[in-house]
Amino acid sequence: MAARVSLGTRIKNTSLKNKIFLATTAVILLISVLIALFTRWVLISSLTSELKLRGLGIATSIAESSRGAILTADRPQLTSLIFDAMLGERRYLLDYVFVQDKKGAVLAHTFTHPFPVRLAHANPLDPTAGTEGAIRLLRHRNRDIYDIAVPVREGIYPIGTVHVGLYKEHIDRLVSKLRSTFLGFLSAVTIIFFAVSHWLSRYISRPLSRLTQASDEISRGNFEMAIAPAPSGTSPLGKGQQASLRSNDEVRLLADSFTHMTAHIRHSQAQLRESELKYRSLFTGGPNPILVLDRRDHTIIDANPSTEEVYGYTREELIGKAIDRLGPFEMKADLLRTAEPKPVLVSAKVAYQRKNGTALHVNVHACPAHYGERPALIVATTDITDMVEKDNQLIQFSKLKTLGEMSAGIAHELNQPLNAIKMGSEYLEMMTERAEMMTREDLATVGGEVSRQVDRATEIIGRLRDFGRKTDFTRERVCLNDPIRSVLKIVAPQLELQNINLVLDLAPDLPSVGAHHNRIEQVIFNLLTNARDAINQKTAGAAEGDVAREIEIRSIAQDGHAVVTVADTGVGIPADVQAQIFEAFFTTKEMGEGMGLGLSISSGIVEDYRGALRVESTPGQGTTFRLSFPLARRENLPSDMA
Ligand code: ADP
Repeated sequence: MAARVSLGTRIKNTSLKNKIFLATTAVILLISVLIALFTRWVLISSLTSELKLRGLGIATSIAESSRGAILTADRPQLTSLIFDAMLGERRYLLDYVFVQDKKGAVLAHTFTHPFPVRLAHANPLDPTAGTEGAIRLLRHRNRDIYDIAVPVREGIYPIGTVHVGLYKEHIDRLVSKLRSTFLGFLSAVTIIFFAVSHWLSRYISRPLSRLTQASDEISRGNFEMAIAPAPSGTSPLGKGQQASLRSNDEVRLLADSFTHMTAHIRHSQAQLRESELKYRSLFTGGPNPILVLDRRDHTIIDANPSTEEVYGYTREELIGKAIDRLGPFEMKADLLRTAEPKPVLVSAKVAYQRKNGTALHVNVHACPAHYGERPALIVATTDITDMVEKDNQLIQFSKLKTLGEMSAGIAHELNQPLNAIKMGSEYLEMMTERAEMMTREDLATVGGEVSRQVDRATEIIGRLRDFGRKTDFTRERVCLNDPIRSVLKIVAPQLELQNINLVLDLAPDLPSVGAHHNRIEQVIFNLLTNARDAINQKTAGAAEGDVAREIEIRSIAQDGHAVVTVADTGVGIPADVQAQIFEAFFTTKEMGEGMGLGLSISSGIVEDYRGALRVESTPGQGTTFRLSFPLARRENLPSDMA
């Protein structure tokens, strides 16, 4: 199989160093071969033409000097002439010389043996054609010879031909001498290039292979690997000099940027580890129950030890279950809209259930997050049972105090049925003493009246009991008119007693809100007692009848809200005091008269049901408190209690 791997694949798989080395070597070899071939061709052709010119020169000079001897056909003179021409260094150059007459007969030659007849016709020259000479390569006695023929003329008439035989070997010798010198030079250059390309490939590939090693180490999570060629601290150059000598070497720049990148990743990883550790310890060690929910179906993905402790379920029991098992969870749109994830209060003071069935009151905060790849919600449920309990105690205390204040009115109201019963019983007693017979009708009338008055007294006591009842924290559908009416049943007689005119204007079809009847009663009660006090305070100095003594209660549906206003004609509240009246323990009343808790408790109750309590006041003229609640949605709230 390995043998079948193609050359292309093998080259592809070879190291960068070898690739650079092979490519450089191949180019150098190709260039060397081309240069060698070209030089050889230039040398051979120029040397050959040089030799031919020399041969032509020799032949022409022999033709010049032999013209007379040819005319006279003086063979001995011709022979001596051509032998003279071959003397000196020319004997290494020339193989032979021979002279022909115009018919081609050989007149003289330099051969020491009989003239080879083949040569006479091997390079024929037509003397009449006017040519300057002819050159031809021949094979003679196993040697390559250039035969150069030059015509001999007398005036314009050709009289014969001179042939000179030049050794081609001579040129070949020169060429091979030059070639070996040249090849030696080329080899030296090639070796130098080899060395340079080897060094270059190592120079480029060494830092790259170090980078590869480093990135391998990083992918295995080891960030301690040093890649930097030379840390700046160890450089002999100053910082400024280093900057001015900033390297332009791309590989070095790559290594530098890699070093920076690794340092950055190392730093980020450390930060990430630290923050993960911090959040993990918050999750596992935090005192509040924290749950991780799947964002789509609100099933529990994870729960911290505090959740197990508070709710009594084990983590395994919770995982996979919907959060509804613990208590209500409302998905707020804000949770998904926030670009920057931050905790959102999704439910305030809601009742959650432990495994053993007991309830606790919690505030639920949620924050969008990711759990692995899953879109999740981090949900924290803060136990506020103690706080709710204390709130309730405070409300209870405030209520009982109000009841105490109302006791005069209540006593007055109770007196009426008691008086009627007393009158009835006195009448019966008197009739018995006189031993008078009573008609059945009279007896039925007196008995019926006594029973009605007992009912009336029972109702008054029942109302007091209802009002004094401890409130729980559940939500139900409440029509605000109902708590107003039940409070008035207790307060109205007292207002009447104090000569305060009550104007009631309640919207007949006021839609319900999500609240609690008993707690709203407490708010109305506080507003009414404050209104009463403000009116009494105003008329304290003035003679009764001088000022209007009136409280007006209205209810109305407005912009998706149910609104109740309580307006009085009392002293009013100065602007600088208005900002403080909702603070706990703020009061302008005499010691023992006011505790400064009424409005603070009221606004707390109103906020619990997402309502608002505002005040408008003109000092000296009166005050209006405006209470508003969003209408109950079609959610599953139990219907009115009243
Ligand atoms: P308290 O009634 O015990 O003083 P509250 O919290 O109910 O406590 O009221 C705080 C203060 O707000 C009162 O002392 C009073 O000065 C002012 N206030 C409340 N309601 C009225 C009102 N209707 N008219 C004038 N002042 C008011």
